[in-house]
Amino acid sequence: MRIDRARLAESMAALGRIGETPRGGLNRVALTDEDRLGRDLLVRWMKEAGLRVTVDRMGNIFGQRLGTESLPPVFMGSHADSVPTGGKYDGQLGVLCALEVIRTLNDRGTRTRRPVGMVIFTNEEGARFQPAMIGSGVLAGKIPLEDAYNARDRDGLRLGDELERIGYLGPEPCVPRPFRAYLELHIEQGPILEEEGLPLGVVEGIVAIAWSRVTLHGVQDHAGPTPMRIRHDALVAAAEVVRGVREIPRAIGGDMVATVGRLDVTPNIPNAIPGRVGLSIDLRDPADANLDRALSMLDRVVREAARKEGVRADVEHYWRVPRTRFDREVVGAVEAAAQTLGCGHRRILSGAGHDAQYMAAICPTGMIFVPSRAGRSHCEEEFTALDDIEHGANALLLACVQLAESRA
Ligand SMILES: [Zn+2]
Repeated sequence: MRIDRARLAESMAALGRIGETPRGGLNRVALTDEDRLGRDLLVRWMKEAGLRVTVDRMGNIFGQRLGTESLPPVFMGSHADSVPTGGKYDGQLGVLCALEVIRTLNDRGTRTRRPVGMVIFTNEEGARFQPAMIGSGVLAGKIPLEDAYNARDRDGLRLGDELERIGYLGPEPCVPRPFRAYLELHIEQGPILEEEGLPLGVVEGIVAIAWSRVTLHGVQDHAGPTPMRIRHDALVAAAEVVRGVREIPRAIGGDMVATVGRLDVTPNIPNAIPGRVGLSIDLRDPADANLDRALSMLDRVVREAARKEGVRADVEHYWRVPRTRFDREVVGAVEAAAQTLGCGHRRILSGAGHDAQYMAAICPTGMIFVPSRAGRSHCEEEFTALDDIEHGANALLLACVQLAESRA
């Protein structure tokens, strides 16, 4: 049994036209009019494929196909929202491959023992409403529904109101339910599969992530009359922190990554010595213990930078996600599928968060990666070759069927 490559390509093109940018990327940010149009098309396709479609109170869309027994179902899915000038593969590829698997089962008249379904999660990207992965986070019981509703975008619009406005505030409770397994196909968003010439990644888990906030308090003063010898420049100290953070992965080794992504400089004008600077620090590593080491190194880097420039520093380690380990049996099913297909594959860890991270908290979960050209994503250049997508979708199909037939 294999998926229909031409039909999948056609669906990708059709959904990709909704929110398409002039340069061929995608702008379909969560709970906008474009998001609604994308959802409407997907729901139409899901109903045409004979799925029983329901929407929960977070706007997560579920479509389920009957099994021969009423047992906990196997679900596949991802998200259909994008970042503002993103690509046509992140998220929507996983949703369309799930749909293609269901259409293939229909073509063959295959009745699986367990029900099979697909889910489209709300606001995975977190581009408009924070935190990211909010739909799956509420479903997994990790984010209170009211907090999610009260998330506001830059214009002060509430997530709950926007959900209602686009017609996707559904009646179903958004709570954990029994799933036999959850499978998510996604683009890798990194360079490893392409570098190694492999069409498929068997994802074992997601790296541990820690976010910190550093604030440096210097002395704001005039850029002209203030001699260099009496300055306490918060931005000079911040520069030391940026350099120091860059050294942390080198010192720890392995696959750690560290990023200072945001600087808030006060007053941020040409003729004043910066009095205050805020920095964001994002640290990721496959091992939780390495993150502990990295965070204490960060403390030292900040202390030393502050001492050298004579400024005061506050450090807050405010968000931490432990390493996610996917289920052995589900990972095994994906690996077996890749072997059956005879396509090159390797085990891999995800450096980015996904809805699968929250799903792993409530049911056996696994992911399939397909290569990203030049490792790029969250940009209009995002691209995955159709040959690779076909392998990924077939692996999703075989793994899904194996789990849907399982007795455990
Ligand atoms: Zn994504």
